[in-house]
Amino acid sequence: MTIPVRQSLRVGGYILRNKLRRRSKFPLLVELEPLFACNLGCAGCGKIQHPADVLRQRMPVDQAVAAIEESGAPMVSIAGGEPLMHPQIGDIVRELVARKKYVYLCTNALLIPKKIDQFEPSRYFAWTVHIDGLRERHDASVCKEGVFDEAVAAVRECRRRGFRVTTNTTFFSTDSPQTVVDVLNYLNDDLAVDQMMISPAYAYEKAPDQEHFLGVREIRELFRKAFAGGNRGRWRFNHSPLFLDFLEGKIDFPCTAWAIPSYSLYGWQRPCYLMADGYARTYRELVEETDWDSYGRGRDARCANCMAHCGYEPTAMFATLGSLKETLRAVRSR
Ligand code: SF4
Ligand code: SF4
Repeated sequence: MTIPVRQSLRVGGYILRNKLRRRSKFPLLVELEPLFACNLGCAGCGKIQHPADVLRQRMPVDQAVAAIEESGAPMVSIAGGEPLMHPQIGDIVRELVARKKYVYLCTNALLIPKKIDQFEPSRYFAWTVHIDGLRERHDASVCKEGVFDEAVAAVRECRRRGFRVTTNTTFFSTDSPQTVVDVLNYLNDDLAVDQMMISPAYAYEKAPDQEHFLGVREIRELFRKAFAGGNRGRWRFNHSPLFLDFLEGKIDFPCTAWAIPSYSLYGWQRPCYLMADGYARTYRELVEETDWDSYGRGRDARCANCMAHCGYEPTAMFATLGSLKETLRAVRSR
């Protein structure tokens, strides 16, 4: 990930320490899901189809913090569901920031105006606002009119108050290279967010819309065309150059899902944020009792079209740090 210098040094030092201790598997970032409920019902979402009693549950603050501490990860991405629906979300963020964890709060932004006073700008905290396209495209993606305008207004307010703001954009088969260019130009230049994350949609088995997920060949073609003509170098991505190469099909990587594990109301999800083959009570148990060699493209049919950052960005980061040339390239791309 292209991240601020201080954060890069801290994460780089963390990786080095783990390598020196000869730990073969350790987390870079935890996907923390303290609830599954959401105030939207996006057609491509695989997270909100839980039974009503599960949707009502909220993870206690102590449980969330203890899980992150046990894992040792330096970065946390809080997702869900919609994390701002959690009544103690401000406390969860405050406790993690106090422990010098870099926290990304993923949100559809609708509740930001109501909840923003619970948060303070910090180099350890960033909003990650879900914006899948320009107005018409985004509102279609979240199945509700007016959400794009509310998200944009919330981003502007967060920036006005001095928060770091990143975005997360998911692409489907309804996208074209031009829609990718249009939304990234808008976020980068007009909205001027700090950094952007992009992802091809993962084909969740439970998502209501099963027709618009992209295959690997289509994903590579989409990004190769969208990145052409100098666009890629101009956009402020929250990704390593090698991960962007991976999306374009210039390089291929194995999946290292153990480096971006997911902790939810059920426990540590096996093997990743996207698939649920059971749960472990601790990160250590997850790492030690999962057959990691059976996952990834070419190994598990459910992984066949996955190019998601939770599986492949860590591989790109490890490859970057293992090469002086790639490290310098990542520094220059910042
Ligand atoms: S906003 Fe996020 S969690 Fe909510 S329905 Fe949409 S994709 Fe799912
Ligand atoms: S390839 Fe990796 S990240 Fe993607 S679904 Fe499979 S195990 Fe999860």
